[in-house]
Amino acid sequence: MTNDQSVTNDEARTVTFRHSGFVILSSFAIRASGFLLALLSIFVATACADNLGILGARPRWSVLENYQGTITHDEFNQLIRDVYCTHGFAPDLIEINDKTARVLTNRKPQKFFTLRFADNDSGRKPVPRLWRPAKSLLPAKPDKPLAGLKIALDPGHLGGKWAKMEERWFQVGSSPPVQEGDLTLRVSLLLAPRLRELGAKVSFIRNSNEPITAKRPDDFRGLARKILIKNGVPQPRANVLDPKDPEKEQTIRWQSEILFYRYSEIRRRAALVNFKLHPDLVLCLHFNAEGWGDPSSPTLTDTNHLHLLVNGSYLAEELEFDDERFEMIRRLLSRVYDEELPLADTIAAAMARESGLPPYEYPTTNSTTKVGASGYVYARNLLATRLYRCPVVYCEPYVMNSKDAFARIQAGDYEGMRPINGVQRKSIFREYADSVVDGLVEYYSKACTVTARSGGL
Ligand SMILES: [Zn+2]
Repeated sequence: MTNDQSVTNDEARTVTFRHSGFVILSSFAIRASGFLLALLSIFVATACADNLGILGARPRWSVLENYQGTITHDEFNQLIRDVYCTHGFAPDLIEINDKTARVLTNRKPQKFFTLRFADNDSGRKPVPRLWRPAKSLLPAKPDKPLAGLKIALDPGHLGGKWAKMEERWFQVGSSPPVQEGDLTLRVSLLLAPRLRELGAKVSFIRNSNEPITAKRPDDFRGLARKILIKNGVPQPRANVLDPKDPEKEQTIRWQSEILFYRYSEIRRRAALVNFKLHPDLVLCLHFNAEGWGDPSSPTLTDTNHLHLLVNGSYLAEELEFDDERFEMIRRLLSRVYDEELPLADTIAAAMARESGLPPYEYPTTNSTTKVGASGYVYARNLLATRLYRCPVVYCEPYVMNSKDAFARIQAGDYEGMRPINGVQRKSIFREYADSVVDGLVEYYSKACTVTARSGGL
C-alpha cells in the first residue's frame, strides 16, 4: 500500500491522508466538512519564514544553480503541465517566461529562484546527476544485461512487531496474519540474488523488519501534541482507547506513531539513498489492498489489480510548502522522469503479463495522473518517490485481501507450480520477483543495445 498521504481506496483503511502539513488529521477533516479549508487557512495565516512539510528540511535553493541552461522552455513547460503540476498551482509560485522560469522560494519575505532556459536542444548543458541513465551504461553482455547497474531495493513498511502499529496487518481466523512489511521483504530477498546474477549491484534500504530511523514514537510526543493543537484539537488525549477508537487520530499516541513509522522512517531511508547508496534506481516494493474493515475480521474481496507509480501529480496545496516545491523542481530538472517512466512502463507490462492482473483505476483523479503507454502507471506525489534523488519505480501489485492473493500468500513461497483455488500458480513471491526481473532485463537490454548501435554510427 502506498506509504504517504494517500487519499485512495488502495489504502486498506477508511483513514485518509493527503497533505503533509495537515496530513495527520485529514480523516478528521473529511468527517468534519470544511475542516480541511480551515486548516489551510490556519497554515497560511501562521506561515512564517519557513513553510515546511512534516519533518521537512529547509531547501538549499542554490543547488539549483547547477541546472542553469540544462533544459529548454518547451521541455520545462511540458513537464510542469503534463507530469508535475497536473492539478495547477497558485500563479505566484511558478512563473514561466520565454527565457526563464521564476520559482518562489519563500513567501515571507518574497524571494525567488530564477532558472535560465537553454535556447534550444543543441544548446543544452549536460544535466548534473549522480545516477546513471540506462543509455550511459556500457553495452552489456547478453548473459549480464544489468552489468554495473546499481539498484537499491526498498521493501515497503516495516513488518514484524511494527505491522499492527503501521496498520499493515490483518488476520483471517487463526491463519497466519498478513503483514505487508514482511511480504515486501520476502520479495526483496528473492529479487536480490536474481539481479546480482544478471550483473547488478544490489543494496537493501531495509533488510530486516526493524526501522532505519533511530527515533521511536515517544520521541515525537511533543511534535504530535503541537500538530494536534495547531489543527484544532486544543487538549489532545494521550492514548488511543482501543483499536476501534473513532477519535484515535486525535490522540498523541497515534500521531507520534505515524511520525515515527512514516515520516521519520522514510526521511531516514531517503538520507541512506541520497548520501550513502547513490543508486541508479530505487525499486519500492509494496503489496496493495482494498478496504478490509476490522483487521481481526477482515473483508476478503474478489477485486485484484496492479499499478505502478512514479513521482508527479503534485497537489496545489502541496506546492505551497517550500520544501516540496523545491524537491519537485529539483526532481524535474534532474530529468528522472525520462528514465523512470519508460522503465515503469516496461516493468508494468512484464508484471501484467506474468500476473494476469488488470490495471487499477483510481476512483478519482484528485491525487494521481495516468502517464505512459502501458495503462498501469500513474504519477503521484509520495514521500519516497519525491525524496529519493534518482529514478524511483514504486510497485503496487496484488490486493492482499483479495481471495486470490490471500490464498497465495497463505500458501507461502515454493518452487515450481501448485494448484491455488484450482489453478496452477507460481508462488506469489516468485511471480512478483520474476516479473520485476523480466521488466528490468527488457528495459536495460533494449536501452544499452540502442546506445551501442547509435554509438557505432
Ligand atoms: Zn504499501
